[in-house]
Amino acid sequence: MHELSMADGILKAVLENAEKNEANEVIEVTIQIGKMALINPEQIKFMLDILSEDTIANKAKFLIEEIPVEINCSKCGFEGKADIDETDHYNPIVECPECGNMPVAIINGKDCTVKNIVIEKDDE
Ligand SMILES: [Zn+2]
Repeated sequence: MHELSMADGILKAVLENAEKNEANEVIEVTIQIGKMALINPEQIKFMLDILSEDTIANKAKFLIEEIPVEINCSKCGFEGKADIDETDHYNPIVECPECGNMPVAIINGKDCTVKNIVIEKDDE
């Protein structure tokens, strides 16, 4: 399942970062998901909650930010936010808002990244 391996990867990155910073608890994690990453944010959240159960992130709040899709149209040269038809979440249709050209080159919105991690450390 796509979301499961993605959630697993996100959690690993979070825990690695937390360990490096000697955290004893992860408070909050902000994750950016591109609309073209073909990921269901609700499922990611759900899986992160389950996967983090036995880790220092077990009480962490997972916040998801969706990133709009940006394209570069080879036909009219338009660059920016694209129109996206998400009727089928796993097969969204992207087209140029200026000339309706498709398919277009997607320059942003395909990735899933950890944007911010809030941790708590022992008082020194
Ligand atoms: Zn165009």
